[in-house]
Order: sequence, then structure tokens, then C-alpha cells
Amino acid sequence: MSASAQNSEPWWEEAVTLCSALIRHDTQLGGNGERRATEYAAKLLADVGLSPVLVESEPTRTSSVTRVPGEDPSLDPLLIHMHLDVVPAQAHEWSVHPLSGEVRDGYVWGRGAVDMKNMAASVLAVVRERMRTGRLPRRPLVLAFLADEENAGVLGAEWLVRERRDLLEGCRTAIGEGGGWSVPVGDGHRIYPVHSAEKGWAALQVKATGRPQHASRVTDANPLRVLGEAVGRLTTDRFPVHLTAEVELLLRRICDVSGVAFDPAHPETACELAGFERENLLSGLRNSAHATWLSAGYQSNVIPGEATAELDVRYLPGRWAEFLGELHAALGPDVEVTELARTFGLSPTSTSAESGVWAATRAALRSEDAVAEVSPFMLSGGTDATHLQRLGIECFGFNPLLLPPDLDFWSLFHGVDERVPVDSLRFSARVMDRFLDLY
Ligand SMILES: [Zn+2]
Repeated sequence: MSASAQNSEPWWEEAVTLCSALIRHDTQLGGNGERRATEYAAKLLADVGLSPVLVESEPTRTSSVTRVPGEDPSLDPLLIHMHLDVVPAQAHEWSVHPLSGEVRDGYVWGRGAVDMKNMAASVLAVVRERMRTGRLPRRPLVLAFLADEENAGVLGAEWLVRERRDLLEGCRTAIGEGGGWSVPVGDGHRIYPVHSAEKGWAALQVKATGRPQHASRVTDANPLRVLGEAVGRLTTDRFPVHLTAEVELLLRRICDVSGVAFDPAHPETACELAGFERENLLSGLRNSAHATWLSAGYQSNVIPGEATAELDVRYLPGRWAEFLGELHAALGPDVEVTELARTFGLSPTSTSAESGVWAATRAALRSEDAVAEVSPFMLSGGTDATHLQRLGIECFGFNPLLLPPDLDFWSLFHGVDERVPVDSLRFSARVMDRFLDLY
């Protein structure tokens, strides 16, 4: 245990104080909080002799990229990508103020505690400790704090990949948010799913049309009725199950350690063995499309001539055409579909399974948790990995956290009372430190 420069506490305590400090920077959309938080993180790195480069796609939408030397400069640098922006929080809904970063009852509380100021704090603490004590990571690092992740990375990762790819020169592998937390399974086992695939996202407009007419008529010709029934079916009827390779690997692993045979015809059964992770795993089995905006009508006594809705779509990576077929079948022939925006998700490459990341994550986790198992999985949300893979960078979600078994961690992402256990943050910093020696 080495002491930090400032005091006699173990160095990993800095992950806790930095997590609180980052939460106190208000990085909700609007204002200049993202710039200030990025400058704050850059200063922490400059203080230990590094040279962060700050860039802005638009005023206040700041990203930073910092190169960290490695023991073996001939190795490809590892990209660690993070974001400091957060989704909004309504203070009146919370037990603790969402911008307080308060440490209470063994947790750091606040917006971003889970997504993802926790990992940013751990990585900053690890890199600062290593630079202070001259323990270089095995390979060089590229630390990227990327703006605008919560808005699909348009002004952050997507912009950087398009306009400043020089800053990521040489990176072939990346780790980021979205995987690496413990899932208790069976009798005393823990699986840490490390994501190597992500669903894609799309926004679609769907529209039903008819002839405007007097609302006194007795008729079923109403575009609102047609559209309402169609989008209602998207929520009540599930899309078909497709078992992707990553989801199958994780479900088989869960069944193995639970002593249960895996049944590929009924993969939902295996999801039930994963406790709080059940919902997350079930989302990986099928496409989804939910209406999130509705618009129709201009006066109460007129049946409108059209009704539109916007759909938020999460589709299995590489299967867009198949999804569209399922969508049209569900909506029926009277609804038009227009694509508004789309990301590609993250599809593992043919070499992903052989990546040294797997052995390094497993060994790093086992140095702190003797029963740790690692498995690939597919994230049902999206991260900046969708943009970074366009540079040929292989992306993995690895934010190592040993969690209390009674914590429904998945529900805290973008949720009320977002909080991370202090012990999990300490664990995260120590495992990340070990990982940088091993990979
Ligand atoms: Zn995030």
C-alpha cells in the first residue's frame, strides 16, 4: 500500500473524493458545466506532469485527450474513453441532492455516480497515483473525456472521430463504460459481464393518414386510432427472440455456475437466474421499439388527417433489415415509417474473442475477488463505442465494480437516487490499477 502525496490514506481513497467532486460539477445539458468539469479533470492530470489536449466541437462542449507513457512504448496504446456529461435530475424526486456528491451510508450519491463519474474518478485516481510514484502502465494510455455522450455523442465522440482522429492515433483497443460489474449467480459465484457488443439505436417517425372529417360521425376511420393501436402493439407484443453469440455465452456461463442446463429454445429461463440483472439480460434477447412522442389533431371537433409518433428503437447489432421486417409486420400496412437518425451499435470483430483484454480483465478482477468469472455480453443501451469502432478500434465495456448483492445497480442508470458504494469505488481503482499492469 503506497501513500498518496497529500496524506497517509491509501491512494485509492482519491477515487471516492474525486467522484464526489465530479458530481458537484453540474454537467447536465446547457450551461458550461461540461467545460468546467473537463478542465477540472485536465488539471488533475496536468498536476502530475501530463499534457491534456482540450478541444471543443462547439463552445462549452469540451472533450480532452491525454497521452500517458507506458513501460513498453512499442505496444499499441490502450484508449480509455469516458464522459462527464449526465442526464438531468429533478432534485425534488431524490433523497439526497443530486449535485451534492454526498457520502452517506457507505455510498457516494448524485447524478453521474453510476453513469459514469465513478469510472472517471477511478481512472483519474489510478493514473495520478502511477504518475506520482513512477509506476508506468505496461502499455501507453490515451485517456479521452468525450463530450455529449448522453446525446448520442454527436458533439463528442462522433465529432472527434470525424474531425480530430489524429488525437486517437495508434489506438486499436478501448475500454469504457457499460460492463464489468458483479452479478451474483448460483451459490457464491460472481460473473462480471464485460461488454463486447451493443445494440444499435434509431429514432423513427411513424405516421397514419386519413381524411379530416367532422368528429360527430360514427366511424372507425381515424388516423389516431390506427396509429395508437399500432404503436400499442409494439409495447404489448414482444419482438421475436434472437439469441446472439455474446448473449448466449453469458447465459450459458450463468447456467453452468448455477448447475442448470441451458435451453437455447427458452433463453428467458436463464435470465431468471441473474437476479437484478434479469431485466438487462432480457433486453438483449430481442429488438424493441417504444413510442416516446405522439402528435395529432388541431381542434377537438375535427378527426385529424394524420397522426405521427416518434419511436425509440434498440436493435440487435448488424440486424437492421431484419428488424425493419419485424417492425412493419407489427405496425401493419396502414403505417408509414421514416428513419430520422440511427447508430450502428457495436458488433464484435472476428478477433474479439482472442483479445488479450479477456485474460487481463479476469486476472485483474481475481486479484481482488477470488471467485470472479468474466463473460462477454451485449449491452442493450449505447455508448461512444459505436463511434470509436469506426476507426477500427475494438471496444470493450469494463468498469470493474464489486457490488453488494442486494443493490439493483441497473435501475440506477439515469435513475433517481443514483449512487455508488464507496467500497465498490475503492475496488474499481485497485482492479483498474492491476489491469494496467496486465494488459
Ligand atoms: Zn454513460
